[in-house]
Amino acid sequence: MSSKKRSHNARAVVTGAGSGIGRAFALELARRGSQVVAADIDLDSAEETIQQIQVLGGKGLAVEVDVSSESSVRNLADAAEQWFGLPTLVINNAGIGTGGTVIGDGKLDVWRRTIDVNLWSVIYGTDVFTPLLKQAGYGGIINTASAAGIASAPGMAPYSVSKAGVISVSETLAAELHRTDIAVTVLCPSFVPTNIFSGEFIDARSAAEAKRLAEESKLGPDDIARRTLDANDKGRLYVLPQADAKVVWRFKRLLPVVFGKVAARAVKLPDSGATRTASG
Ligand code: NAD
Repeated sequence: MSSKKRSHNARAVVTGAGSGIGRAFALELARRGSQVVAADIDLDSAEETIQQIQVLGGKGLAVEVDVSSESSVRNLADAAEQWFGLPTLVINNAGIGTGGTVIGDGKLDVWRRTIDVNLWSVIYGTDVFTPLLKQAGYGGIINTASAAGIASAPGMAPYSVSKAGVISVSETLAAELHRTDIAVTVLCPSFVPTNIFSGEFIDARSAAEAKRLAEESKLGPDDIARRTLDANDKGRLYVLPQADAKVVWRFKRLLPVVFGKVAARAVKLPDSGATRTASG
C-alpha cells in the first residue's frame, strides 16, 4: 500500500459523522472511493450522511455510538470490522463545544462532560483502533482537536484542556507509531461554521460570538476535511488549516507569557459583561 493513498479506497471509521466536519470527512472519503462507517450519537443524522454517500455512488454504514463510553466505542469497532474487515483509517472527530465558564465557578459538570466527550473519546478511539490498524499493517488516525487546545484562552478551560489533551495523545501516538506505516494527524481548526455552537454548555453570548467568527471563516467543513485528509496522506502530524490558528500557534511558542497577557486583555469574562469566549 502506498502511504500516499491512505484516504483513497480506505476502510474508514468517522465519529461525529452526522454533522459538520465529521460529515464532510465522510463525504470526501466516499468521493475518494473509501467505504465509510459513519458513527454518531444521533443515528438519524449518521443515516442522512450515508444517504448522501450513496448519492455519490459510495458505500457506507451508519452506527450509533457514544464516544464518551468505552463499551460503545468497542461496539463501534466490532460493527466496523464485521462490515468491512480491519479499518485502515480512523477519524476521532466527535465533540461538543463549551464556553463561558470560569475556573472557580463550580461548573464541574461542564468539565466532566467536556473531558468525557472530547478527550476520553480520543483515548478510547486510539486505544481500541490502534491495534486494528497495526493488524492491517498501514493506515491513518486523524484526531480532531482545536486551536483552543493551543491558546488556553480565558473562560473556556474545559474545552481547551480537552483539546490540549487530544493534541498530546496525538503527538505521543505519532511517536509510538513512528516506525510503522500508520500516519497520525491532529486537526486544530479555529472557527468553522457547523452546528457546534448550539450545545447546552455554551452560554448564549459566547455562542453568538463564536457563530459570528465562524461565519467569517474562509474555510468551510469541506475545505477542512480535504486538507486534513491530504495532510494525513502525506504523513503530516499537525494541521492548522486557518491563518488565525497559525498565528496563535507561532505567537504562543515564541512569546508564551506575552501571548497570555494579550489573551487576558482580549477576552471579557462572563461575569464582567460581554464575552468573546466560545469554543470551536
Ligand atoms: P457539529 O456539532 O456540527 O458535529 C459534531 C457531531 O458530533 C454531531 O453530529 C454530534 O451529534 C456528534 N457527537 C456529539 N457528542 C457525541 C458523542 N458523545 N458520541 C458520538 N457523537 C457525538 O460540530 P463540528 O464543528 O463538526 O465538530 C467536530 C469536531 O471539530 C469537534 O471535535 C469539535 O470540537 C471540533 N472543532 C470544531 C470547530 C468549529 O469551529 N466548528 C473548531 C475547532 C474544533
